[in-house]
Amino acid sequence: MEYKILAREGKAKRAEMKTVHGTIQTPVFMNVGTVAAIKGAVSTDDLRQIGTQVQLSNTYHLHVRPGDKLIKEFGGLHRFMNWDRPILTDSGGFQVFSLSSLRKIKEEGVYFSSHIDGRKIFMGPEESMQIQSNLGSTIAMAFDECPSSVASREYVQASVDRTTRWLKRCKEEMQRLNSLPDTVNREQLLFGINQGAVYDDIRIAHADTISELDLDGYAVGGLAVGETHEEMYRILDHVVPHLPLEKPTYLMGVGTPANILEAVDRGVDFFDCVYPSRNGRHGHVYTNHGKLNLFNAKYELDARPIEEGCQCPACRSYSRAYIRHLLKAKEMLGMRLCVLHNLYFYNTMMKEIRDAIEEHRYAEYKERKLSGMAAGETK
Ligand SMILES: [Zn+2]
Repeated sequence: MEYKILAREGKAKRAEMKTVHGTIQTPVFMNVGTVAAIKGAVSTDDLRQIGTQVQLSNTYHLHVRPGDKLIKEFGGLHRFMNWDRPILTDSGGFQVFSLSSLRKIKEEGVYFSSHIDGRKIFMGPEESMQIQSNLGSTIAMAFDECPSSVASREYVQASVDRTTRWLKRCKEEMQRLNSLPDTVNREQLLFGINQGAVYDDIRIAHADTISELDLDGYAVGGLAVGETHEEMYRILDHVVPHLPLEKPTYLMGVGTPANILEAVDRGVDFFDCVYPSRNGRHGHVYTNHGKLNLFNAKYELDARPIEEGCQCPACRSYSRAYIRHLLKAKEMLGMRLCVLHNLYFYNTMMKEIRDAIEEHRYAEYKERKLSGMAAGETK
């Protein structure tokens, strides 16, 4: 892995990261394909067309169905879904803590019941690394606990200490798996995750500790789970300077276009979020003049594309009126076109961000983009 900073403006970083599955240009938005597919009938061919660089897949979901051993037998996730560019897999931790019932956290890991069939499952750092190794993703995430934003200080401190011990076990297990001859991707990379809820001092101490482990990248986790945007920005202001500058910085599960613009300004260069696909499936589409709700009656006879000048497959061929009709008729194509437009909007915004940092006009770009989006229709 080689990560090289190409330009900086303030804390904002424009970088590139070389991996066995190709080079990632950052800042980057990773498109979320929960079960090895973007919801909304979007194929990997579509993703290539709309400029997707990295796909994110969920370890927990793929472990439960179809099973990571099956995917390994097939030759790994890249071959399974016909995607040759980078893939990042999450650790499964977030789903274990948010979806499953009857969970019990122990030093060795977490005991819980599958959300599909109630089957008892155990997942700890070694199991998470084994599953992600079977999937053969480009980047694996460390197994961590994401404590609730309202958890007590004592709970958060104990949880973060355990997450650090788990991280060391993840690193050891990945080194072992990467050395085995039948491993799908023997150059799999590992990102560690900073936690600490809304406690700045716990987060800073944790960032310092994990930075010493010399991982391939560092994520800030446990944000966008109920705290305000201002709290999130304050935490980034405090934490990012304590993570290695010469490694990628990933803000997990964030967020709106405005959140991304603010986080880039604070030195973050990897993002993922379900908003563009989830909003698209509900007919909510992003434009440079704010978000539109295509169910609104005023688009009934609107012959314009979602956004004038947009080069996405929806805007090149179809009107707002037609897409609105498809959505109202519950035709799959309506959702698909909205999801494609939204992902294209995010991917294109990241390209604009990269160009702006390179040309040292990011501050001006950010203000223009934010005020344009805020001026328009929001709901
Ligand atoms: Zn479009």
